[in-house]
Amino acid sequence: MMPVNSSNQEINVSDLLLYINCPRRVYFVNRGFELFSEVTASRLERIILKELSLNYPEIVKECSLNADNLYEELEISLAKVCTDLPLLFPRELACVTKEIFEDGEARARAKLPEIAANLRGALEEFGKEPMLAALTPVKTEPFLSSERLNLKGVPSKLVCFEGAQVPSILKPGSCPQQGVWASDRIHAAAFVMLLEAENGKEVPFAFVEYVSFGLLRRVAVRSTDRREVLKICREVEKIKAGVMPERKEEKFCKECNFSEHCVSESSLMSKFF
Ligand code: SF4
Repeated sequence: MMPVNSSNQEINVSDLLLYINCPRRVYFVNRGFELFSEVTASRLERIILKELSLNYPEIVKECSLNADNLYEELEISLAKVCTDLPLLFPRELACVTKEIFEDGEARARAKLPEIAANLRGALEEFGKEPMLAALTPVKTEPFLSSERLNLKGVPSKLVCFEGAQVPSILKPGSCPQQGVWASDRIHAAAFVMLLEAENGKEVPFAFVEYVSFGLLRRVAVRSTDRREVLKICREVEKIKAGVMPERKEEKFCKECNFSEHCVSESSLMSKFF
């Protein structure tokens, strides 16, 4: 086993998310392996919907009082996003075929009715002004870092809501019936802690936007979440210093880019230890 390096490498919030998926993924990514090999239609769908969600504030602002035109505005915006996408992600989309692009676009378009219905529902429940406050960034992708936490990261945006500046993260995956997924809670907690370190005052909550559904969830960060962030940070530090974590059979193993190396490195290690 490689010696543990005592000088800490700075940890990124994205390392924490990788760790939650599977600790070994941190090990491989830290050694320069690519997390994704190709852009599939489903990954493209997520990229499109995430990009579309950046236009929600504009769309909500433009929509009529009864939000009748919401769906049309979303459709117009989606078309623009798809036109602009190759300019925004030239490297990632360089090898994407026309078929995959069209498939990704069609998949994203199929989500629009649900997104429109949920945005309309939230507008009716909370009103336009609070919705706009929760969606509109005061800063987009700000860089946050804390020497004390040995952590850095870039939240999707900061918004000003009920007088507080809070982080908001965009999630293109599935959405729980209520609240947020446990991993999203940790993701939000990490940015809350970074923002607190940056601004020197308590950040009461964060937002998680489930962009494939047009749903916005508010999450109050608890001490247990903060404790979990610190715990994972310490584990990631060890992995970055050279410790390879135990291989656990994860639900992601089948579609994991590292499966080949993961098995061979495990059997190699077992020969020596
Ligand atoms: S193959 Fe499984 S255990 Fe190995 S890195 Fe991927 S998800 Fe983790």
